[in-house]
Amino acid sequence: MQHDNDHLRRAIALGEEAGRRGNRPFGAVIVAADGTTIAEGRNEVAASGVVTAHAELAALTAAGPSADLTGATVYASGEPCPMCSAALVWAGVARIVFAAAEADFAAIIGGHPRFALGCAEVVGASDAEIAVSGPHLGEEALVPFRRYLETVGPAA
Ligand SMILES: [Zn+2]
Repeated sequence: MQHDNDHLRRAIALGEEAGRRGNRPFGAVIVAADGTTIAEGRNEVAASGVVTAHAELAALTAAGPSADLTGATVYASGEPCPMCSAALVWAGVARIVFAAAEADFAAIIGGHPRFALGCAEVVGASDAEIAVSGPHLGEEALVPFRRYLETVGPAA
């Protein structure tokens, strides 16, 4: 859907911003069922020193405790990790849509640890009814990761 791609491109732009600040280049957007943006988040792990400051958790935090996420969709520039996937289950969102697959961005920027457990597998292991869709946008989704590799270098 076109509006899905628009929101994914916003998440990718947030990932670019994260990368310019020296963080791994992930962004996330939470969009309500009516199409309005509830909150946005950028990966802030390197800048903050908080190891769990992933983009999706930053977006959930920005949404705040009183946000109604029923029917909401989370758009992520990269496939959500198991921690974030589980958090999105706890948050009660309706859909998760991501751009770059974990295997594809990890092939570019590396990183450790990695999980052999995809977003759809984590969500599928819950009793929640959440649709997971991705990867999307092909090479376009990998641009922030290639740029990050050029500026910051590969993970140790
Ligand atoms: Zn995560």
